[in-house]
Amino acid sequence: MEAAGPDIPFFRLDLDDEDIASVVSVLRGGWLTAGPQVAAFEDEFEQFMGEGVRAVAVASNTAGMHLALEALGIAQGDEVIVPTLTFTATAEVVRALGADVVFVDIDPQTLCIDPDKIAEAITPRTRAIMPVHFGGLPCDMGRIYALAEPHGIHVVDDAAHALPASIDGVHVGAGASDAAVFSFYANKTITTGEGGMIVSRNESLIERCKLTRFHGIDRDSFDRSAPDLAKLCYDVVAPGFKYNMNDMAASLGRTQLSRAHDFHTRRQHIAARYHDGVAGLPLTLPAWPKSHQTHSWHLYPIQFHDRAARDRFLEHLSRHGVGFSIHYRPLHQMTYWRERNNLRDDQFPVATRYAERCVSLPIFASMRDDEIARVIDVVQAAFH
Ligand SMILES: *Cc1c(COP(=O)(O)O)cnc(C)c1O
Repeated sequence: MEAAGPDIPFFRLDLDDEDIASVVSVLRGGWLTAGPQVAAFEDEFEQFMGEGVRAVAVASNTAGMHLALEALGIAQGDEVIVPTLTFTATAEVVRALGADVVFVDIDPQTLCIDPDKIAEAITPRTRAIMPVHFGGLPCDMGRIYALAEPHGIHVVDDAAHALPASIDGVHVGAGASDAAVFSFYANKTITTGEGGMIVSRNESLIERCKLTRFHGIDRDSFDRSAPDLAKLCYDVVAPGFKYNMNDMAASLGRTQLSRAHDFHTRRQHIAARYHDGVAGLPLTLPAWPKSHQTHSWHLYPIQFHDRAARDRFLEHLSRHGVGFSIHYRPLHQMTYWRERNNLRDDQFPVATRYAERCVSLPIFASMRDDEIARVIDVVQAAFH
């Protein structure tokens, strides 16, 4: 097949005039750091999530997971259960607090952490479980809560892929977890360039994260109404971090959030087109959400029978100008984690096999119908 038309990237931003105007107005307004835009973004995110959910805007999902675990008291001597199929951020924040990561394999259908293997990994030192809603498909949170609760184990969702995913009509992040953390990195389902949001129903966790995201200082530095003398008399009441979001990012987050449902509709459309368009080929398609679930479709990962077929397909995509990515080389194969935890592939057979056979196809809100059709043509051509 001849390459037809311009290349299709793995991801392309969707920024409209309103997104751009909102950031420009912050630049013209004279207040760049955390201020009224951050407060408004948090309010709007709380409304988006639903009744009783509080939100704290931070510099990244990684920063947010670090703060949420710190607020729960995770420290040296503790163990935190993390799926091996994730980005290293999920695990690194555990080490940043001096605690140990216990890696667990995934379920072959959902590609999310396998609850049966969580059960086997729990020890007296287990203090938290960090499910990753892989690609935007919600994990089986009912089973995870049932495993965690009897042992008093915390649950902190890495919800980087999961806006807006839901279970029984309840947004991921608005359930019974201690906290969930979203990412607004450039290629996530909405973006602030760099940014993240901690959500929780636990008021004291929220207060702790608001304190620690800004140096442990006992009042918001951006309280512009405070008299100058009061601002100078701040106190430090905790060892903090510099993890706040800024107003430029937050203003972009507000306009992006207002478009989140439109973005989601588009992603669902692309996933449905792919599902129809490549049906019947010798491929494993990503699990379709069950009737009680909503999938955010951050990723559309397909699987081949073996590594050689997958690798040939990657070359085929490159030749035809179609972008792709691999999510992920699992953490048990990364040098630091493999050596620190003394890990082998045979301890994680499902993720190991998945990683050598997977490829993520382009899926992004600004993808045009002709681009979707072309990706489907290119995938089909690989089998003819
Ligand atoms: C993107 C991503 C992160 C990190 O998000 P940042 O906002 O860049 O810190 C963490 N976990 C997963 C699964 C991700 O995809």
